[in-house]
Amino acid sequence: MDNFYRDNILDHYKNPRNFGRLEKADATNEEENVTCGDKIGIDIKFEIRNSKLEIKDVKFHGEGCAVSTACASLLTETVKGQEISKIMMMNKEDILKLLGIELSLSRLKCALLPLEALHKTIAIFQNKK
Ligand code: ZN
Repeated sequence: MDNFYRDNILDHYKNPRNFGRLEKADATNEEENVTCGDKIGIDIKFEIRNSKLEIKDVKFHGEGCAVSTACASLLTETVKGQEISKIMMMNKEDILKLLGIELSLSRLKCALLPLEALHKTIAIFQNKK
């Protein structure tokens, strides 16, 4: 495993960015990974800028292992201020690029949980409109 990425993941696990709850979030959702016991919840505030829907602010909460927590931290940093249409196209490859390490199949579920929670939170908001 590459040291830079390993240290980066440990840093995000120990000092998660965007951890907590958003007051008056436009949408919220929580997902669970039963195989590991991870629970990741996402709160989002949206904003329309240049007639495009974007994430104005995002926070995550819950309890997860090192991989799911670090991934939620990295992901929330990445998507803040981004267009929803681009975020909805993010997939497994984008998450692996963010993490920069090889993952076993069970760890991959942990890594993908925050993205799943994020996508569902966006879908909940879009269905409300
Ligand atoms: Zn996990």
